Amino acid sequence: AHEGILRRQSSRESAARTYARSLPIVPVRARGLTIEGADGRRYLDCLSGAGSLALGHNHPVVLEAIRSVLDSGAPLHVLDLATPVKDAFTDELFATLPRELAESGRVQFCGPAGTDAVEAAFKLVRTATGRDGLLAFTGAYHGMTEGALAASGAAPSVRVTRLPYPQDYRCPFGIGGENGARLAARWTESLLDDPKSGVRRPAAMIVEPVQGEGGVLPAPDGWLRRMRALTAARSIPLIADEVQTGVGRTGAFWAVEHSGIVPDVMVLSKAIGGSLPLAVIVYRGDLDIWQPGDHAGTFRGNQLAMAAGAATLRHVRENGLAERAATLGARLLDRLRRLAGEYDCIGEVRGAGLMIGIEFVAPEGERSEGERTEDGRLPAARAGEIAALPSPGDGPAAGPLPASPERAAAVQRECLRRGLIVELGGRHSCVVRLLPPLTITDEQTEAVLERLADAVAAVCR
Ligand code: PMP
Repeated sequence: AHEGILRRQSSRESAARTYARSLPIVPVRARGLTIEGADGRRYLDCLSGAGSLALGHNHPVVLEAIRSVLDSGAPLHVLDLATPVKDAFTDELFATLPRELAESGRVQFCGPAGTDAVEAAFKLVRTATGRDGLLAFTGAYHGMTEGALAASGAAPSVRVTRLPYPQDYRCPFGIGGENGARLAARWTESLLDDPKSGVRRPAAMIVEPVQGEGGVLPAPDGWLRRMRALTAARSIPLIADEVQTGVGRTGAFWAVEHSGIVPDVMVLSKAIGGSLPLAVIVYRGDLDIWQPGDHAGTFRGNQLAMAAGAATLRHVRENGLAERAATLGARLLDRLRRLAGEYDCIGEVRGAGLMIGIEFVAPEGERSEGERTEDGRLPAARAGEIAALPSPGDGPAAGPLPASPERAAAVQRECLRRGLIVELGGRHSCVVRLLPPLTITDEQTEAVLERLADAVAAVCR
């Protein structure tokens, strides 16, 4: 069955699929961290539905919530009508939100996918401000529809000004650390304030508090606070895309809590649906300028997803799973950094909570096919210009080695051979990403580390 299904699917289904290329698995059963294929093989799943399974596969509280809706005889399809299920979901959601948004914010149900919510957020800020154009960051990922793609740096359909997202290892200014982050913020300010830059006041800035697809890059708290302050001072709405970082993933219920900033709009999906499709935006009440019918859609009332999502939000909140993600994540980072110390081919280990990335590089003297400079990087000339700003003081040069997507892909394959599913990411596809469920046990964590260490040893020797 396993081989037949794989063969038939690859002959009939579009080659555009992402995961099918690297994971030749036909899942038939799953529970928690474990997934079982049609060939009887079992895997530890650290991809977790691309980070959407906060409680792992088929958690009993999620199954129970879904069953109770099914058994109640409630309609499954209700468009956007009010229902007890939606009411309960909204209660749970508001119980978790930053106080300002919980007290006077609005929620809008946007459809099944994160990208639907991103589009709704863009349309909302354009309508509310009467302006167009967006500020987005190098390495950003917001989805696969046209507006979201444009903000991710991949489609020219929306006017987007790309700003440097601070990172240590591949710091766009080659400085790293706090000074790199400070320079990134000054670059942004100077673009906004210099009439010659051509950046008119945009409709919004959109930021991921931790870039996921971009290669697991946690934004420094101070930099995020500066982005909040500089957008607030210019009345530019700040959109936080918490599609991947939400629901405890980074060690706080919402990743914006680490820096204490309150965005004007939050984009939420993945884990809020408890493994079923659900996406919403939450925003400041005074931005709610929609007229009836301005933003509609057929599939915004998924009762099963709302029930599964409410159960997930409650379970994460009541069981302190965000705190657990913080503790376990710190332990994992520590262990992985020790592992990195043994190998030249690991450039950096980084993360926040249970969102962890291991960047693979080509050791000194080795060339890699992976290093590309065109996508999302600051043009050298402009970086030179900005570096000429009164400098906050030069920190140590970051000087990273070339990215090695070959090694990252090989580690992913070796992990799979050992029954461990991990994902790749990063602008150069050189980052192995771990997104285990927040319910992963200590014992399972050890098993993941062991398989990963074996895979790295097999590739990097
Ligand atoms: N924003 C972020 C930060 C994401 O990580 C993703 C998905 N990886 C999306 C938006 C898009 O979500 P979806 O795939 O559900 O459209």
